Parts: sequence; structure tokens; C-alpha cells
Amino acid sequence: MEFTDTPQEAAFRAEMRSFIEQECPEGIRRRGFRAAFGGGGWDDIHMSREEYFKRNGAWVKKLADRGLIAPAWPKEYGGAGLSVMEQFIFTQEMSLSGAPRGGNFGIGTGWAGPTIILYGTDEQKQKYLTGIIKGDDVWCQGFSEPGAGSDLANVQTKAVKDGDDYIVNGQKIWTSGAHVAKYMILLARTDPDASKHKGISYFIVDMKTPGLTVRPLVNMAGNHDFNEVFFDNVRVPKENMIGEENRGWYVGTTTLDFERSGIATSISHTLMVKDLVDFIKENKGTGVITEDAGLPNELADRMIEAAVEENLCTMVISMQNRGLVPNKESSIAKLFSSELDVRISRTAMKALGLYGQLRTGSEYAAANGRVESTYLYATTSTVGGGTSEIQRNIIASRGLGMPRA
Ligand SMILES: Cc1cc2nc3c(=O)[nH]c(=O)nc-3n(C[C@H](O)[C@H](O)[C@H](O)COP(=O)(O)OP(=O)(O)OC[C@H]3O[C@@H](n4cnc5c(N)ncnc54)[C@H](O)[C@@H]3O)c2cc1C
Repeated sequence: MEFTDTPQEAAFRAEMRSFIEQECPEGIRRRGFRAAFGGGGWDDIHMSREEYFKRNGAWVKKLADRGLIAPAWPKEYGGAGLSVMEQFIFTQEMSLSGAPRGGNFGIGTGWAGPTIILYGTDEQKQKYLTGIIKGDDVWCQGFSEPGAGSDLANVQTKAVKDGDDYIVNGQKIWTSGAHVAKYMILLARTDPDASKHKGISYFIVDMKTPGLTVRPLVNMAGNHDFNEVFFDNVRVPKENMIGEENRGWYVGTTTLDFERSGIATSISHTLMVKDLVDFIKENKGTGVITEDAGLPNELADRMIEAAVEENLCTMVISMQNRGLVPNKESSIAKLFSSELDVRISRTAMKALGLYGQLRTGSEYAAANGRVESTYLYATTSTVGGGTSEIQRNIIASRGLGMPRA
């Protein structure tokens, strides 16, 4: 494994760094506790679209002009056509500088768009990709259901053919951003008699279609990020199907591959630990930091783990860059990364003691309550994108050759 940049990668890194330095205004960068302890990086979703564009619009346009809203998309669809390694470098530089991502809330640029590029018709590409690449259209993902999460192939939402449409009935859950989304990517059962993985189709649904209801779910951090979505005779035109009827499972797993490969690209944990250490140093002796002789050693452990995580991510990326398909490796990186999220937030909570437990809004909350929200959000990393137990199953079966659980 090669840890250092090649001369070409170093040149690309320098180009991206200077582009960000010159073009991204200091005022919109998220640094220190604002960036690292952001409560799951949901700041953008809590802003209205108007606020988001008022704040970040000029920067988003600069990214869009260079295809950097969707860096890995081919240039013909408005992306920058970057290789896996270049995209990784770009992501690292964006994280280091605290520059906001241009993509409008992730699912469109990260998962829906790439799936449409691979499986969509020319008409679908024309209709949907431009709105994603300009950052205009927000997308959501209607996969999980009350009885289909880890066992996603168990989806029970039905789509029954009726002339040129499908009529959809059923329920989705944990649908992030459904309340602000224009479109949903939906998995629904089109053949109830086929075996589990074979009777599913993949659709795009306009969120304004009659019969579709979005009901908020407020998470334990007190925020409205995800929702329940109910379908009551929702008509979806057949031209909204991506790929072939009853072959949607295979399209869906492509979307999940995009989702999971995105998970392994972050260097944010190293920044979190550094920011936490800076915060502790700055606030020592003010009464905000707990006097705990074990704290420096615990911080050292987190720093070591963040370095291990970076190496695991580099392993995944370097495999992808060589055209290999990581599977147990992605699960190892995802598992380590999401559990490290939890450990770092616990260390931060320990460092700030009772002050850390106070919410944003309390005049006594240290760091504006960011430790409290990060602590509550950290758990979600071990669930979203495949739970820790499921990752352990994959590592045991594909990595160690143990029988499937
Ligand atoms: C922040 C967040 C955002 C999300 N956003 C979306 C979204 O936008 N769209 C969407 O479709 N979904 C979304 N999800 C849902 C997510 O994909 C599911 O929560 C996840 O797949 C787990 O499914 P579940 O919640 O039904 O839990 P279950 O699958 O019911 O699991 C319950 C528990 O049982 C364990 N378990 C299950 N099966 C096994 C097994 N075979 N072996 C060992 N243990 C097992 C699990 O690990 C877990 O601890 C989101 C989740 C989170 C946390």
C-alpha cells in the first residue's frame, strides 16, 4: 500500500488546496468546534434552501463551474470526472479547510445521481441530472420500512401496474430529508410471488404526487432530520422506473455501494480529536474541563484510532483506485469509523463533564452545546448505512469464512 501522494496526486492536491483557499470565503468555513462537533454534519439540512443559498450560493456556483458538486461524475453529466483517488484527495482538502460541500444534501449527488448515470435512460438522465448537479433539487431515499432495514430485501411497499402507471401503497421509515425533498428513490415490490430479492423494482417518485404523506420523526437530539412516508394509491408513471421491472434489488445494491463507499472517505475524526485537544487547552482552569488524570491517555488512544481509521480508509480507496471491489474492507472501515464516532463523543463528554451535557441555547453550555448533540448523534453512525452487527456479520463471513449468521 502506498501512503504518500504520487507527484501527480501531490500536484492535484496543491491545485485543490489553492482553489479552496482563494475561492471559499473564510466566513462560511466551518472550523474548530463548529466543524468537528457539528452533531452529525446536519447543519445544511436544518437551514432553509433560501438560507443555504444566501450563505453558500457564490461558493456553490464556483464548485459547480468546475464540476466539483459531483466530483466523480463524468464530465458529460456536469461532474469533474475525477478518479477515485482524486475525489478522495478533494474530499480531504475540503474537510481540512472546513469548506461547505456544494452538493445539495448528499443523496442526489452521492447516490441517486450515480445510480441514474449507470442504469437510467437518456430521458431520465436529461430530466434529473441537471437539477442535482446545479444543487437545485433535494433527493431522499425511500428504502427502509418498519420491517425492512438490515433485511432490506423484505420491503413490503407494493407497486401494482395499472396502464402506464404503477399504483404504490405502503410505508417507508427513517427517510432523511423527505420533508425538503423534491424526489425520492424508492424500492417497491412489483411481484409478490417472486423470491424476496427478485420481485422488487426501483422508481423515482415526485414528492408532490397526490396520496403521498410525509410525517416528521424527531430524533433524540431534538431535530427533525428523518420522517415516515406513507403511500396511499400514489400513481407513479412507468417511465419513472430505473432499470428493469423486478430487477430493482440489483439497482438498489448499487445505490448502497455508493452510500457505503462514501462513508469511508472522511478524515474528520483526526480533526475532531485535534479540535477537542485545542478546546481543552484553551479552557483549562476555567472550571469547564473535568480534572481527570486519565484524560490525556484517553485522548492519545483516540488520536491513535483516528490514524488507524485514516489508514483503513486509504486501503479501501487505493483498492477502488486499482479497479478492485472492496467488500469486507469497506465493512471494516465503516465499522471502525462509526464506533470511533461514539468513542470520541464519549471522550469529549468526559472532558467537559456536566457542562458537556447542556444543550445549545443554555447560557452555561460549553461550545454552544455541540458536545451534547454530537454525543447523541454519534449512535446513529452505528445504525445508518448498515448497523455494526451487520458489518461484523459481513467481516466474519466474507473475511473469516465463517458460516453466515
Ligand atoms: C441517521 C439515519 C439516517 C437514515 N436515513 C435513511 C434514509 O434516508 N433512507 C432509508 O431508507 N433508511 C434510512 N435509515 C435507516 C437505516 O438504513 C436502518 O436504520 C438500518 O438499515 C437498520 O435497520 P433497522 O433500523 O430496521 O433495524 P433492524 O434491522 O430492525 O435491526 C435492529 C437490531 O437488530 C440487529 N440485527 C438485525 N439483523 C441482524 C443480523 N442478521 N445479525 C445480527 N444482528 C442483527 C441490528 O444490528 C440492530 O441492532 C437511516 C438510519 C439512520 C440512523
